[in-house]
Formats: sequence, C-alpha cells, structure tokens
Amino acid sequence: MTLANRKQANSESIKITISKKFWDISHIISEDIPVYSGDPRPKFESVLNLERDKVNLSRITLGAHTGTHVDSQKHFFKDGNGVEKESLCKFIGEAIVLDFSKKALGEGITDKELSSYSSVVNTNDILLLYTGVSNYWHDNYMNKVGKKFTYITPAAADWIINQKIKSVGIDTFSVEQYGSKEALTHKKLLSSGIGIIENLNSKLKKFVNKRVFLVCLPLALEGLDASPARTIVFDISD
Ligand SMILES: [Zn+2]
Repeated sequence: MTLANRKQANSESIKITISKKFWDISHIISEDIPVYSGDPRPKFESVLNLERDKVNLSRITLGAHTGTHVDSQKHFFKDGNGVEKESLCKFIGEAIVLDFSKKALGEGITDKELSSYSSVVNTNDILLLYTGVSNYWHDNYMNKVGKKFTYITPAAADWIINQKIKSVGIDTFSVEQYGSKEALTHKKLLSSGIGIIENLNSKLKKFVNKRVFLVCLPLALEGLDASPARTIVFDISD
C-alpha cells in the first residue's frame, strides 16, 4: 500500500511495505469503560435529539486519560508541552511488539528484561509492550486487575531513553506503578521527549515478537495533559 522510510542507527533509509489491512488496538470508549482508580467516569448526554430537534447532538464529559490515550509533558511538568504540541512523528512509525505476558499481575518490567531484546530493537523504534493485562478488559477488570497492573520500572525507563526509542506503548492503565509518589517513569520518559501511549487493547497479542507500523493520533487538545488516541497497526514486510 504505502511506503514508509525507516531510519536505522547508521541513518541509512530503508523502504518497508505495509499491509492494506490494519488492526485497531484502541479501546471503545463507553460510559462503563474501566478507568484508573480515582479518574472521572465518562458521561455521554444528549443535547439535541432526533424526534424533538430533527438532529442528534451529544455532549461528552471525559477524563483526558480515558481509554487508549497519549500522555503529554503537561501531565507532570508545569511548563511542559500540552498534548497538542507533542509531535505526531513520535506516534507514527515502525514499532516492535515485545512480550511480557509471563509477568505476574502488579510486577514491573525491568531494565534487565528489556535489555534481553537489545538485538532486535533499533534506534528510533516505537516499543509496544504486551503484558496480557488487557485480556481482562471485558472480564471484571477493576476487580481482577484494578491497581495491580504491569508497569515500567524507572530503571527500565532509563534503558528506553538510552536506546533512543521514539515512544512506548503498554496495554495497561499506566507505564507507572499504581500509587507511585515520585512518578519517575513518567518524568524520565516525558522529560526525554519520549512519547507515552497507555491502555492499548488485547489485539496487540497478535503481533507479539513482530514489527508493525503504528499510527496513533491523539486529539490536539490545547494545553492538556493527555488525550484519547485512536491507535492502529499495519503489518510490515521488509
Ligand atoms: Zn495517562
């Protein structure tokens, strides 16, 4: 379908071919979607309706971190970029899907575990971390997972920074351990200009240990700390 250029460490440009078919790895947003403990619940209201007003028009009330979403620097830094200023280049490009589904609920992904993938991760890649936690999404998620989701340890964030990764996505509520006071993983990644995509869906499983072409588009919400983002992947063949 389309040709995209991949820049490798030696800055040589390589052509890749992506599939016509794509897979949606973002969650459907509904009023009863699971939300991070303490976050506001979505609300959908009818402002105009077809019978009375000859048109349907709704108002949506939504936490900025609802469903699949991108975090901006503003999430943790007073003078950081709002989500409208986060470069889309970070969220469009070649990605590799790494498997952490053997980890127990509530465990952090370590730098040692990430470094076992060093030979297959390229500079400028996007990392998509499949933890398997997303498989509980439609199965009593808040009781079975709730605050015990897999996350990225601060040392693993350092590894990601050193590898010059563009952005990192995960199929759990957050890259950070629930309740972390320091929020070091967020702060390290965001201050290094690395994009964060949270709450991908379980379709990511299909691509474990494969390379895909990711397109993740947050809304341009001025000055905000995050935005829901429709996120799709294409198969890649070199
Ligand atoms: Zn977030």
